[in-house]
Amino acid sequence: MEWIHPMPKIELHAHLNGSIRDTTLLELARVLGEKGVIVFSDVEDVIQKNDRSLDEVFKLFDLIHMITTDHQTVTRITREVVEDFALENVVYLELRTTPKRNDSIGMSKRSYMEAVIKGLRSISEVDVEFLPASNSQNVHNSCDGVGRKKIYVRLLLSIDRRETTESAMETVKLALEMRNVGVVGIDLSGNPLVGEWSTFLPALQFAKDNDLYITLHCGEVPNPKEIQAMLDFKPHRVGHACFFKDQDWEKLKSFRIPVEICLSSNIITKSISSIDIHHFADLYKAKHPLIICTDDFGVFSTTLSNEYSLAVRSFGLGKRETFALAKSGIDATFAEDEVKQQLGLIFDSASPEYV
Ligand code: 5GP
Repeated sequence: MEWIHPMPKIELHAHLNGSIRDTTLLELARVLGEKGVIVFSDVEDVIQKNDRSLDEVFKLFDLIHMITTDHQTVTRITREVVEDFALENVVYLELRTTPKRNDSIGMSKRSYMEAVIKGLRSISEVDVEFLPASNSQNVHNSCDGVGRKKIYVRLLLSIDRRETTESAMETVKLALEMRNVGVVGIDLSGNPLVGEWSTFLPALQFAKDNDLYITLHCGEVPNPKEIQAMLDFKPHRVGHACFFKDQDWEKLKSFRIPVEICLSSNIITKSISSIDIHHFADLYKAKHPLIICTDDFGVFSTTLSNEYSLAVRSFGLGKRETFALAKSGIDATFAEDEVKQQLGLIFDSASPEYV
């Protein structure tokens, strides 16, 4: 399946801190170990463990955040994550991250996001287009799969389920202020066993009323009431959808809400017990909009190409169907029409290889 790597791809569900390179994480942990802030060998064991429950994943995130949450590191990992996606021919990336406040180092949610933007601006390995089309001088189709790589990047600000309504609202207001630097929407994520839907709803409704796009982590654990409430909210996309019941599928399908599918993540965290019973198959058969994504390529040791290979192997997709699936992701992006058109041209120019 050597054709998957060069194929243009769209990534719509990638968490910044979950996509950190293993090598970078270990390097940063070693430095903190030398300073006596953490015990490096403990961290090394946790980082290198391959099999983690969803609960263990969130413990790992707390550890990752201890290691990465300073402005310089946020800038560095943003640069590396975008370069890694571009180098495997991701042509459009919606990168999400939770703006963090840490008074002890003078970090506000805004300065955290400014560090992310600095990371985008600092990329020289590949061409990055992250400003909205109206604000940018160089929207053009230069991604030919052989020359210099080009990637469109848009940002989603995540609300962590540990946050209060007030803190969630602060994130939404920040997103509105940062629309001119490529912020297009809001994500709700964090440990699904924590927090209540009613806490986040006012901020999410405010975001929606102000034309931000919304994607929700939905149905990662069995919580029928919350799943129904989330679907009734009519988000623009949902992620995971692992614990949906018949009535949830019915609603999702009738609203045509696209689903971000993260195969490795679902299997590793045991949200889905085995790939052959993954809901990908049913949604694909029903021609429901879905997008293959990585979730956290660092934490789950995967790549987007690997996720596509897994889908091809597990569900018997052919080359042409896989290409069509990747291309169909354009409609589910939160990008402006100009960018969607450019993405269409990129896929069209690659299509002779895949028909
Ligand atoms: P960050 O927002 O710090 O850049 O990325 C890591 C954060 O994304 C985690 O702390 C968590 O809030 C969220 N996250 C990453 N992966 C998952 C996932 O699989 N499920 C949920 N619910 N949240 C996740």
